[in-house]
Amino acid sequence: MDKQKPPTWRQRAACRGVDPDIFYPVTDEDAEEARAICYGCSVREACLEWALGNREHDGVWGGASERERRRMIRQRRRSA
Ligand code: SF4
Repeated sequence: MDKQKPPTWRQRAACRGVDPDIFYPVTDEDAEEARAICYGCSVREACLEWALGNREHDGVWGGASERERRRMIRQRRRSA
């Protein structure tokens, strides 16, 4: 089986080199630091879509917490 290459947008991620713990907050309220980095990231949309498409359960991706991504998935299902 072919090994999947990491998505190319990751090379332009604003979170590269940043402490990963910031992106895995215990509560949504603790996610503000990660969100601030994501909102200034040039690949935020690609990152968020990747996380939604891969059902990434943990952490902040594309500026959205796990709970926010679950809500987005539900909304998309309803409007499909
Ligand atoms: S949107 Fe956030 S988590 Fe995604 S690559 Fe950018 S900084 Fe990293």
